[in-house]
Amino acid sequence: MGTGSGTGGTGGTGMGTAASHPLLLLLFLHPCLQLGRACGPGTEKDVSTDPLMLCRACGAEVANGSDVGFVPSRLALSSRNDTLPGGRRVAVPNVQLFENPHGRRFEVIAFRRAGVALHWPADERASWFPGFAWTVATCPRCKAHLGWGFQPDHWPHTVTASHFEDSPSTFLGLIARALVTEEFASSLLVTPKSFVS
Ligand SMILES: [Zn+2]
Repeated sequence: MGTGSGTGGTGGTGMGTAASHPLLLLLFLHPCLQLGRACGPGTEKDVSTDPLMLCRACGAEVANGSDVGFVPSRLALSSRNDTLPGGRRVAVPNVQLFENPHGRRFEVIAFRRAGVALHWPADERASWFPGFAWTVATCPRCKAHLGWGFQPDHWPHTVTASHFEDSPSTFLGLIARALVTEEFASSLLVTPKSFVS
């Protein structure tokens, strides 16, 4: 019994020391958590007003709905107003249909900017936007072909990504079918729950 209480005493001291450390950690962590919460609502608000466009293949965030623009082309076979799929629909001013020299057709949405990887050198041949040379645009994560970057055709064929991004004379034509809205992707993620029950 005496040995037991002795061990208990030592154990109690040990636990007391150990307990003080997590408490200190909590005190340090606490302000950080509060800061995180404070930043949260602002971020969510931004997302709701500017819906994100994701790569359909992998879900990477590649564009912002607020960056949808409209660059009319006389070479478009047709153009139509449309909405991208999603719970709260995103109006797209104009989806233009183009055909490449190989006979493949693409519905293209213009964006002022997007988080895609561009592959220089640019090529002005068979450009859908006269006066602009094109580069292939791919998903930075999965490398899926998402569309094209367009830059003035008098530019050097190869420029830096920052030169392209900083210029108001450039835009991106992304393939409508290659994108989904974040909300649409979320609705797809919810679906499997119905299979569980
Ligand atoms: Zn991707």
